[in-house]
Amino acid sequence: MFILGASFASAQTARGVYLMSSGTLGPFNIQGLIPTYPDARDITIPILMAVIDHPKGLVVYDSGNNIAVSDGNCKSYWAEGMCDFLKPSQTRAMVIDRQLEKIGFSISDVKAYVMSHSHLDHAGNLKMFKNAIIFAQQDEIYQARWQAPFQAGPAFVEADHAGTNAFNWAPLNGDYDVFGDGSVVIMDTRGHTLGTSSVYVKLPSGPLVVAGDAIWMEENLEGYAAGLNYSVQKYFASIDRLKLIRDLQGAKLIMGHSANQYKTEYDKWHR
Ligand SMILES: [Zn+2]
Repeated sequence: MFILGASFASAQTARGVYLMSSGTLGPFNIQGLIPTYPDARDITIPILMAVIDHPKGLVVYDSGNNIAVSDGNCKSYWAEGMCDFLKPSQTRAMVIDRQLEKIGFSISDVKAYVMSHSHLDHAGNLKMFKNAIIFAQQDEIYQARWQAPFQAGPAFVEADHAGTNAFNWAPLNGDYDVFGDGSVVIMDTRGHTLGTSSVYVKLPSGPLVVAGDAIWMEENLEGYAAGLNYSVQKYFASIDRLKLIRDLQGAKLIMGHSANQYKTEYDKWHR
């Protein structure tokens, strides 16, 4: 006979979250990213990607810079000015397919892919995930294809998205519980872009939220807005929502581009 209770018990948490980087951006002045920040200094920042291991399947959150940007070849793919400004440093070994192999998985193991938003340092290798279910806010899918004039520019690379219409898109209008057990929940944290998403993960050790670019770095938590927001009002409402989860549930918040967290939280499993 089957022991039904066992499957209920084992599905209450994800097994782990692994944080990895598609290389770094910079160095550049922090005020180029956060214009209101009062203290000029140069920073070099990681590009967050996350792998969530759940008993029902593997979830990948973001895929970094496109593979073509690897090994000093940025200008073959991104706009020249964007390469000079962001200064991506990405070896081939840092691309999402190789990063997955390093921890014993491959692209074909990925059941669900979450596109946090459509910017070039996050959606770069979306096309590798054509066999996964692709979650994104419906507004973000729209924005990837046509940007409001004040947002249009080289942070969106058309080639990252071209030809993906026939993929297995799951367009969202808000939050979504991926496996139906509350352990991996996509959160609507729009503001940075028209439809930014974060992911709440319940782990055996407690909750962890992959906030992504809803919070770039610590300075944003101190009240200094990122300089590239679709809506500053919605941006801060999303940060307030994430802070509540941190303060009431004791959740760890993983930011999209924190140099401090790159040293302490990356390249390891959080269980
Ligand atoms: Zn970013």
